[in-house]
Amino acid sequence: MRPSQAIIDLTALRANIQQIRTYASSQHLMAVVKADAYGHGIVRVAQAIESCVDAFAVSCLDEAVKLREAGIQKPIILLEGFFHPDELPFIVEHHLQIVLHTPFQIEQLLKATLPKPIDLWLKVDTGMHRLGFSPEEVQTIYSKLRSHPVIGQAIIRLMSHLACADDYQDPKTLQQTERFFTLAKSLKIETSLANSAGIIGWSQTHGHWVRPGIMLYGVSPFSGRTGIEEGLQPVMQLKSALISVKHYSPGETIGYGATWCCPENMPVGVVAMGYADGYPRHAPAGTPVLVNGQRVPLIGRVSMDMITVDLRTQPEARIGDPVILWGKDLPIEEIATWAGTIPYELLCHVCPRVRRVEII
Ligand SMILES: *Cc1c(COP(=O)(O)O)cnc(C)c1O
Repeated sequence: MRPSQAIIDLTALRANIQQIRTYASSQHLMAVVKADAYGHGIVRVAQAIESCVDAFAVSCLDEAVKLREAGIQKPIILLEGFFHPDELPFIVEHHLQIVLHTPFQIEQLLKATLPKPIDLWLKVDTGMHRLGFSPEEVQTIYSKLRSHPVIGQAIIRLMSHLACADDYQDPKTLQQTERFFTLAKSLKIETSLANSAGIIGWSQTHGHWVRPGIMLYGVSPFSGRTGIEEGLQPVMQLKSALISVKHYSPGETIGYGATWCCPENMPVGVVAMGYADGYPRHAPAGTPVLVNGQRVPLIGRVSMDMITVDLRTQPEARIGDPVILWGKDLPIEEIATWAGTIPYELLCHVCPRVRRVEII
């Protein structure tokens, strides 16, 4: 069997929930499990933490139905609401909650014949300028919904999203917070504003419900920091093995484009892990990889199924030796920096062909 695997540590996942509870002890916790739980497996993650969270957040109906079919009973929130009114019967059937962010959704919702109310989250745009109504629009929409015979019975809550909370210096977070809670106060409804960065760095954003995503998986939302430094434990370890070790002479080049040239006689290892597994193709020569627990540099280009590594500091390394691409001994935050991206993207890109192996 191909040795590439993503080890998913469910004990670390549960420990991260406890850590989130210490940051936000009196809030309800909505675990964000969109994008297949950031690549960790949505059903596996939801089942492991259902008893210690208050709700789940996903990005579409398919993800929510997958959770319901797996027996998940806690509330599930569709972060983008519905895309077309033909989804409404399923939303009612699976008793999902929806985010409303555009007049189109309001119109369709008010027009629909609903057998029972759907719990709603009104999304207000406090400065992110992506989804949501202006604070003034929210006032009007709220009254309209409240006076509807069926929808008026639903729970209606307020949410917004932070644009710059991962930067401690940015004044925008406090502006957004101020706008958000001023509106919430006038409507007298429950609130949700904080993502992982808000939870860790900005306690004034916490409100009634917090929405941790990346920190659930043991990763820091702040650039230049690691999950470990936030008291979190990495949940995923991306692993493989050496499938070849060969020696080359000075001047010989390694891989596509012949971009890396051997300066001396040296051993080169090939690892079964490439961009078709989700390893970033833009990881440059020098990106660290652990072979037998020791750091060695990646050399040459990342191929579809393989990468090559410099084994000069590991002359004893052999076929079958374990290789770690990221995990608790090699922070994914560091690999993301090398590859010019963020850990979120690396996690979401781990491909289905990489076997997920759980540690319970
Ligand atoms: C993805 C998402 C989150 C989680 O963000 P993290 O930075 O991963 O904690 C929270 N709220 C909304 C609306 C999101 O889309």
